[in-house]
Amino acid sequence: MFEKLNQEKKDFLTGLFLRESLYLFAEELINASIPAGDKFSIAVVDIDHFKRFNDNFGHDFGDKILKEAANILELVLSKDSRIFRYGGDEFVMVFPEKDIKEVVGLMRICLNNMRLHPFMHKNKKYKITFSCGIAAFPQDHNTIEGLIKKADKAMYFSKGRGRNYITVVGNIKYIILRNILISIVFAGIIFASIFLFRSRIFGEFVPSVMEQVKKIRVTTKPKNLDVVVLKNGVVLQGYILDDLTDRIVINLELDKGSGTVVFYKKDIEKIEYKKE
Ligand code: GH3
Ligand code: MG
Repeated sequence: MFEKLNQEKKDFLTGLFLRESLYLFAEELINASIPAGDKFSIAVVDIDHFKRFNDNFGHDFGDKILKEAANILELVLSKDSRIFRYGGDEFVMVFPEKDIKEVVGLMRICLNNMRLHPFMHKNKKYKITFSCGIAAFPQDHNTIEGLIKKADKAMYFSKGRGRNYITVVGNIKYIILRNILISIVFAGIIFASIFLFRSRIFGEFVPSVMEQVKKIRVTTKPKNLDVVVLKNGVVLQGYILDDLTDRIVINLELDKGSGTVVFYKKDIEKIEYKKE
């Protein structure tokens, strides 16, 4: 099997098979897998921030990265697995007879090998990572074009999750759902914390005037003062400084000294102005 592929030309830079050969290989694989009921998986790999290395250190270093990355990816290939340079810094790996779990394990090894490999430029080491998407035949799609499209989407999902990451097509919806649930729980915790610790977060809440009044010991001095009777039964005496539509400003005569307080009229039962 796969004899046709051996005659295909290879990419001069990485020594890998080219994109056109991938379709040929996949066609042969699918034709063999369908009658046998076999499964296979593919992995789309794209180097993270490759352009940055190209732009900052030159195309030659970019080429070196591509070559070495291709060698690292090739390490996990078994007898029937193949790797293709799909274009630019993107590779497609095909793993016949391997299920998703096995391929995830292999790609984790690649991710680790890549992360640990020192990419040297002018005696300095650089770390390179990649993002990966994995799709399986036939559950994710039954054509190579469909599989690549799905795996590519999963690869971009990995980019979105911060790169240096592997995403399996079938898990995307669960990851999204899990993220939504985590966000809801997180938002709930934040709201609950704000509610419970609002006084600490926003500073002490000023207690309502009515609450303050309960704490004030009011004396009835033998003076001719204005009297304010609050709805909670407290009787206050002092000088009403201002009488507005919705509130009054009163200078209270207290045991020790005096203090100016504002009361809303809705809290006041009765106001008696001093008799002249
Ligand atoms: P991302 O993490 O989102 O993938 O970012 P990136 O910088 O890797 O972005 P992108 O994949 O779009 O960059 C691919 C770059 O690869 C753009 C192109 O100039 C460069 N490139 C394509 N083929 C070659 C090549 O054969 N050699 C070199 N040195 N660069 C190449
Ligand atoms: Mg890239």
